[in-house]
Amino acid sequence: MLHGTHAADVGISAGASQPCSLWHVKISEPREGFFLVEGPASNWIIVREGDSYLLIDTGYPADTDDVLNSITQLGLEPAKAAAVLITHGHVDHTGGAQHLAEAYGVPVLCSPQELAHVRGEVKHQITLGQVLLRAWRPRAFRWMLHALRAGALKARPAVAANAWTPEQLRELPRSPEALILPGHTPGNTVYLFRTAGVIAVGDSFVTGHPISGRSEPQMLHSMFHYDRDGAVSSLSMLDGVEADLILPGHGPALALPLRDAVSSLQVHHGSVRFS
Ligand SMILES: [Zn+2]
Repeated sequence: MLHGTHAADVGISAGASQPCSLWHVKISEPREGFFLVEGPASNWIIVREGDSYLLIDTGYPADTDDVLNSITQLGLEPAKAAAVLITHGHVDHTGGAQHLAEAYGVPVLCSPQELAHVRGEVKHQITLGQVLLRAWRPRAFRWMLHALRAGALKARPAVAANAWTPEQLRELPRSPEALILPGHTPGNTVYLFRTAGVIAVGDSFVTGHPISGRSEPQMLHSMFHYDRDGAVSSLSMLDGVEADLILPGHGPALALPLRDAVSSLQVHHGSVRFS
C-alpha cells in the first residue's frame, strides 16, 4: 500500500520500451484505496474496493499507456474495471476512455448533461486559436506544445459512453455520488465518496496547472471554461458537502476540508481569481 500524497513516485514511463525521464506519472494513495495518478498534464484516479475498482477520467490520448500501466502497477487488470467515470468531456480527461471500452469492454459513464460532449457530438473545448492568442506567455506556450503532442487535436471521442443513473453509481466500488456543477462544461460533474470523505472535483477547481505558477486551490484560466461565471456560481453546490480530501483534475491531492478550499478561492478582492 502506498500512503501519503506523493509518497510514491513509481516513475512509470510513457511506453515501457522507451523509458523517458521527462514524462512520468506519480501515483499516490492519500487515503486508503484512493489512488491519485498525476499524469504529464492531467490526473486520473483509481478507486479500489477489495478486488474491484473504478477509474475516474483517463488523461490525454497519449496517456493511454500510462493509464493502463498505472492500473497494472496496482495489481489490477484493465478488463476488470467496474467503470470509467468521466468528470467532463475535455480531451485531457477522456483520452483513453474509448480504448478502455473497445479493448476491454469497460463501461464508460458520465452525467446525462455531459453525454453529447463526451461522445463528441458537441464541442465545448478551447480552440487552438484561443490558445495561440495567449501563446506569448511561456507557460501557455509550453502547455500548448504538450497538449498538441499528447494528441489534443487527434482525440477519439468516447462514442461508447453512456449516462449513469444514481442507482448505477451506488452499485460501483465505494458507492460514488454525483453532483453536477455546470460551468466548466455544461454537465461538469464531481464525484463524492461520502463515507471516505473524498471528493473528485475534476476541473471544477484545481490545485495546479501547467500554465499556472501557483500550487493552491484555484480556478483554471477563464479561457478553459465554457461558462466562466457559471463555473464560479456552481461552487455553491458544494456548500454543506462534507469531504476532507480533494482529488482534482490537475495538481496534487489536497487534504483540506472542502469548505475551506472553496472559500480560499474567494479571497481575492471578494471574487474568484482565475489563473
Ligand atoms: Zn482538464
